[in-house]
Amino acid sequence: MRKIECDVAVVGGGPAGLAAAERAKDAGAARVFVIDRDRELGGILQQCIHNGFGLQLFKEDLTGPEYAHRFIDSACLKGVEVLLNSMVLEVTPSRTLYVISRDQGMLEITAKAVVLAMGCRERNRGAVTIPGTRPAGIFTAGTAQRFVNMEGFIPGKRIVVLGSGDVGLIMERRLTWEGAKIEAILEIMPYPSGLIRNVAQCAKDNGIPLYLCHTVSRIYGAKRLEGVQAVKVDEKGMRLPGTEWDIPCDTLLLSVGLIPENELTRVSGAKLDPVTGGPIVSDDMQTSLSGVFSCGNVVHVHDLVDNVTQESWKAGECAARFAATGQRDGPVLRIRAGDGVRYVVPQMVRASSLRTQETTLYFRVTDTRRDTLIEVLLDDKVIWQAKKQIVRPQEMVSLTLEPRPHLQPMTGDKVCVRLSHRKGDEDI
Ligand SMILES: Cc1cc2nc3c(=O)[nH]c(=O)nc-3n(C[C@H](O)[C@H](O)[C@H](O)COP(=O)(O)OP(=O)(O)OC[C@H]3O[C@@H](n4cnc5c(N)ncnc54)[C@H](O)[C@@H]3O)c2cc1C
Repeated sequence: MRKIECDVAVVGGGPAGLAAAERAKDAGAARVFVIDRDRELGGILQQCIHNGFGLQLFKEDLTGPEYAHRFIDSACLKGVEVLLNSMVLEVTPSRTLYVISRDQGMLEITAKAVVLAMGCRERNRGAVTIPGTRPAGIFTAGTAQRFVNMEGFIPGKRIVVLGSGDVGLIMERRLTWEGAKIEAILEIMPYPSGLIRNVAQCAKDNGIPLYLCHTVSRIYGAKRLEGVQAVKVDEKGMRLPGTEWDIPCDTLLLSVGLIPENELTRVSGAKLDPVTGGPIVSDDMQTSLSGVFSCGNVVHVHDLVDNVTQESWKAGECAARFAATGQRDGPVLRIRAGDGVRYVVPQMVRASSLRTQETTLYFRVTDTRRDTLIEVLLDDKVIWQAKKQIVRPQEMVSLTLEPRPHLQPMTGDKVCVRLSHRKGDEDI
């Protein structure tokens, strides 16, 4: 078995892995490897040929491959070494990676620091348990996207989409342009789960009917899908008998959520957050294992790739610093999700960060609220607040805390992010 030693090993060559690798190089790491199981770098962006990427970071409207190529070019120019067609099978707590490569066989890579950037995968029929037969013609929206945009196939002509996530919405527009008819979008929640801009541009602009509080209750067809039964649900998601109707179709696309790809993280022994499904990280993107960092969709599912890149730059920079010093900063304070908040990432923050540098927190809310106040508390004392006109569960909220040099957090203090009623106009 070939053995390799390096400063930073990055698992995954999507936008997260690429940003982490190029920044690790900038921060002085001599030997940086990116390892990806796919045949090319860029991750999921290679199949996202629509525009809308990079609006925040570059103030430009790029396609997915254009966005990815900025980072592929930059990482290669900076001397990042790349292993493609190479699947990481195991990451040990002492930062050794076991990799199976199509060209080189088994590899053992020992790194001073590791960055986990494996992205996420889509929930499938098994995850939503739809009764009925098992015919061909049922795909996740991302699989259909790969077929249409990369392999040159159209999955069907009369299509029903279950779920109104962003991947499904984007595919509805794409398939309409390719001549397919989208019969209906069925969404179990009382609100669409994708971004508002995608609901408008992909569904409304193409006249596609969106049925909220609806799901698929039966699949029809032997060899190929022939239709689905749609049904209305109550506020608890329970099917309402008597509201069923049939929709003839040859294809069902599932756009019912993404799950962080964390099998490797679990095997490594890093602690996972049961709400996000990703590893628990500190504000330097370090997991519970010293020297093992993580970033991108494997930590939590992001709406925008721009946020992925920013988070991953931090992971790469901190991984390079760890590779040089072998030391973990401390102490860290736990961050808790308070009223109205479903989760917060990072889940921990270093006390020194709160005093000396800007700290960005990402969170999702439990329900839609208008005229709300976001508050950050340290040991029950409000240290930061901001007004927000509207927050929605489907849109990630980010907030950047400016440094507070006067803060003297004690070990064991907790930080809490919560929603409160809007009181005054001034930030503190
Ligand atoms: C269909 C779709 C449309 C989107 N549209 C937009 C948009 O319009 N605008 C926007 O800003 N964002 C959009 N996004 C979000 C954005 O694409 C993601 O946030 C971003 O790609 C996540 O980057 P990542 O590197 O974490 O994951 P990925 O891009 O998924 O990359 C993960 C990489 O890890 C590799 N990998 C996984 N496991 C292993 C292993 N064991 N060994 C080796 N390699 C491994 C995979 O092969 C993959 O290349 C969209 C996402 C999707 C899915």
